[in-house]
Amino acid sequence: MREALSLAEQAGQAGEVPVGAVVVYQGQVIGRGRNAPIAGHDPSAHAEIVALREAARHLGNYRLEGCTLYVTLEPCAMCAGAMLHARLERVVFGAPDPRTGAAGSVIDLFARSELNHQTQVTGAVLAEPCGQLLRAFFRARRGNAEPVREDALRTPEAAFADLPGYPWAPHYLSDLPAAPGWRIHYLDEGPRDAPLTWLCLHGNPAWSYLYRHMIPEFLAAGHRVVAPDMPGFGKSDKPKKESQHRFGWHRQVLLDLVERLDLQRVILVVQDWGGILGLTLPMAAPDRYRGLLLMNTTLATGQEPLSPGFLAWRQWCASQPQYDIARLFLRGNPQMSPAQAQAYAAPFPDAGHRAALRAFPLRVPAAIDDEGAQEARQAQAFFQRDWQGQSLMAVGMQDPVLGEPVMRSLQQVIAGCPEPLLLAQAGHFVQEHGQQIAEAAVRHFRA
Ligand SMILES: [Zn+2]
Repeated sequence: MREALSLAEQAGQAGEVPVGAVVVYQGQVIGRGRNAPIAGHDPSAHAEIVALREAARHLGNYRLEGCTLYVTLEPCAMCAGAMLHARLERVVFGAPDPRTGAAGSVIDLFARSELNHQTQVTGAVLAEPCGQLLRAFFRARRGNAEPVREDALRTPEAAFADLPGYPWAPHYLSDLPAAPGWRIHYLDEGPRDAPLTWLCLHGNPAWSYLYRHMIPEFLAAGHRVVAPDMPGFGKSDKPKKESQHRFGWHRQVLLDLVERLDLQRVILVVQDWGGILGLTLPMAAPDRYRGLLLMNTTLATGQEPLSPGFLAWRQWCASQPQYDIARLFLRGNPQMSPAQAQAYAAPFPDAGHRAALRAFPLRVPAAIDDEGAQEARQAQAFFQRDWQGQSLMAVGMQDPVLGEPVMRSLQQVIAGCPEPLLLAQAGHFVQEHGQQIAEAAVRHFRA
């Protein structure tokens, strides 16, 4: 059955319904099949039929007496009929199929005493992994089939195939109160009841790919990791209009996500916009948060002028709206492979998908009345007076935008924030050196 399961996985990867089958004769596998009706334009290409054909060729006989067929899903009427024709001795199946199962679920062809051949049936062998594979497959397909809002774009799934170092399954929410119909993507790994949950927030123009060096360290410690893609980024739906990208909307989407997933014992991990927005979250639900892991970011309160580095970045974005994202990442991270740098560009196949990249540099609150500045000031007061959690700061020293001076002033604002880790080689996207930061963080934050 294990071999049938791995054939089922192959079918799923090929876009077919994940069902696999093997035929065993005298302890030896003589036929293998995986579902292939779509690729072969063949309605009869069920895993069982493919395996029966191969077994019959092997034996040189269309009668398969003495053979046992293992299949991950309860056979349909067609396959059950073929097994009876072949005088198969025994069939063992995994998950029941309540819609088309012909071994007891809908009908039971094997129990008809009028038929002159009887095939023995054993069901529910490894039913859980067999069924899990099918459920995951259909869940993912439903996800893809979900309608896209008129005012949104969705990056095709193919853009995200085979990204280096990003093996995690997608999770989606499409009904957050602040974002009805917007499909929001997030990673969710590790046990739900873990002692700590690392909530990892990216900035512009990154996405959850940014955390691929840190996630494995958190998981190895037995913790949970939740890493959303903000609307407009990564695998989340992308507003067509730049005007949709408002501070208050993004903040509320993140607040909704935390509530919906009911995140507890959170270590908030932030960098860039992940902090500009994310640092305003804990004051809204302080009981959920245990700690802060801060990398090159700021609280944009509108009280102090934005750094010259940031103003230069904003100017550059305005003059190069189609800037090369992969090159931007390579510039500060010569250790990255071209494929990794290209992965950052995957969510943005054309100018239409890049509204967030155009909008975000302009949305950083710069004046006292700018949207978000008030929330930032409230957050500042919260971290100065009310913050009880642990904190850790890691600074990418090569960052011209939100580097050491900006981080030193943020450190002053966070009660109990210790001397930062200084990463001499790291630039703005500090997470590219994230493995060592995550290791230090796992030691620093106690559950
Ligand atoms: Zn079938």
